[in-house]
Amino acid sequence: MLKSDTKPVWDCVEDLKSSFRELSDQIWERPELNYREFHAASKHKEHLQAHGFQIAEDLSGIPTAIMGEAGEGGPVIAVLGEYDALPGLSQEAGVAAQRPITPGGAGHGCGHSMLGSASLWAAVAVKNWLAEAGVLGRIRYYGGPAEEGGSSKSFLVRDGAFDDVDVAISWHPTAFTGVLNPVSLACVELEFTFHGRASHAALAPHLGRSALDTVELMNFGVNHMREHMPTSARVHDAVIDGGGTSPKLSRRELSYVI
Ligand SMILES: [Zn+2]
Repeated sequence: MLKSDTKPVWDCVEDLKSSFRELSDQIWERPELNYREFHAASKHKEHLQAHGFQIAEDLSGIPTAIMGEAGEGGPVIAVLGEYDALPGLSQEAGVAAQRPITPGGAGHGCGHSMLGSASLWAAVAVKNWLAEAGVLGRIRYYGGPAEEGGSSKSFLVRDGAFDDVDVAISWHPTAFTGVLNPVSLACVELEFTFHGRASHAALAPHLGRSALDTVELMNFGVNHMREHMPTSARVHDAVIDGGGTSPKLSRRELSYVI
């Protein structure tokens, strides 16, 4: 039974608004790539401590994976937070045009600076509400690194971090408020490195071997494979190092020309 004067949980949310907006801004201003979210993890940890959560660190041996728990008895409710940025998305805040702060630098896409802060906001609000209402229940905040690529939650699941969790809640910023029932796919990330052999493009092309040609051949094959894959499967790719800016300007070729 709830106490008769228990305020709605939304009041607990409103009470915390300014500090968690500030946290989101702090994460936006200092974007960090996957598994290097040291500033973000420490900021989230500060808030967990300030609100009396018991903290577990280095989950699965990952320095930026943290968990905070508050409350007693009842079900275990997990709210999942994330805080890593993507490369190349550096962006000035509050501007609806591409305006990088650091050209080529990292940044948070589609509201991801809020993925950790708003989840923590929810966890603290629910913790306060449970205490005020006298309802048994434990609320946990999981600060999971490498959401953009790196799959930290897979390691947390493997190591039992969610074994006693009754419900886990995640969210994503969008233009409306609603409950979605999306289907997620498992993700495997592979990195291939191709090695070529430099040779002067005009004087001895027959002695060279192009790593870029091999990348193209592999892509060609994968594109044909797509035709025969189950519709639920996806393959995406990125050439993260194209092997130089010109076929004539790799370092070995340049010294050959000189
Ligand atoms: Zn997103």
